[in-house]
Amino acid sequence: MDAPASDVVPLDTDLVAPGDAPADARSGFSWSISRHDAFQSCRRRYFYSYYVAPEDEEVRRLKRLSALPLWAGSVVHETIEELLKTRDALPSETEQEAIVRAAVHSRMLADWRLSEAASPEFRLFEHEYGTPVEPEDKKIAVGIVMRSLRNFFRSETLHEAFAVGRAQWLTVEDLVSFHVGDVEVLLRMDLAFRDRSGRVVIVDWKTGRNEGRFSEVQLAGYALCAAEKGWVGSPEELRTELAYLAVPRYVRRTVDARKLEHARRYILKSAGTMKSLLLDPIGNRGRLEDFPMIDRPRRCRRCNFRRLCFPRPEAVAAVEGAAAAP
Ligand code: SF4
Repeated sequence: MDAPASDVVPLDTDLVAPGDAPADARSGFSWSISRHDAFQSCRRRYFYSYYVAPEDEEVRRLKRLSALPLWAGSVVHETIEELLKTRDALPSETEQEAIVRAAVHSRMLADWRLSEAASPEFRLFEHEYGTPVEPEDKKIAVGIVMRSLRNFFRSETLHEAFAVGRAQWLTVEDLVSFHVGDVEVLLRMDLAFRDRSGRVVIVDWKTGRNEGRFSEVQLAGYALCAAEKGWVGSPEELRTELAYLAVPRYVRRTVDARKLEHARRYILKSAGTMKSLLLDPIGNRGRLEDFPMIDRPRRCRRCNFRRLCFPRPEAVAAVEGAAAAP
């Protein structure tokens, strides 16, 4: 997740939201940050993810592969979601510690076993492709989960959300949709609530350390969505928070009309570029050959679809060799 974006297929759980269901060829085109990220990273990866996966079970399975840092993020998000959907008040300190331990000792352990057994329910990239997992790597993932959840319980915003009460909560871990022009946009919203002063607070829990490449668009997307849903009359009535739980660091931002306009143009341009590669943009249909592979071995080495692009073992070895080269 913290690896340089130029070298690997991004593993940022905040970008690759599990619920970011691809709009398939039959149901039409929906723009999302995950989709934009896939498109920027590799056209072929994008085509597999959004046009082949909905039709092909094996490609869908590969698309869903997790990986250690992404997995840690998913465990944190699932634990937070469960808590926010079932509790009306902050758990006691003893309960908090029990929740943190259960995330590691029950949830992570269960996932790990499923992955080792090649379960269709959960599978790690590392197991799928036989990438060695050092004990230190596992310790890092466990550390991220424990630190993130403990900081979540301490976070001022969580305390504030429970203080105003569930009646003021607007959404919890929902995949929301809104429109920019004629483009449908999908966005995952972790938590949105109305604070005591009537302002809408939208929180994004993150387990990475660094600001994502598209966080400005993401924040503006929250504002566009809040306006379309009638939560706010103007962007100034909104406060967004990127909560880097593993650090912890809380970045609060406001959004203004200029940023919104920039985000609108950005989304429309991105959607237009994606559609321009389709054979039939109205029917949302394309051909694999119009979405080329990239020549970036380091990126391919960590890509879920590596097997499809490099089916022969000698080709995989060549990718490994090129990726390892200084
Ligand atoms: S293996 Fe490489 S070329 Fe193939 S989809 Fe992945 S990143 Fe693209």
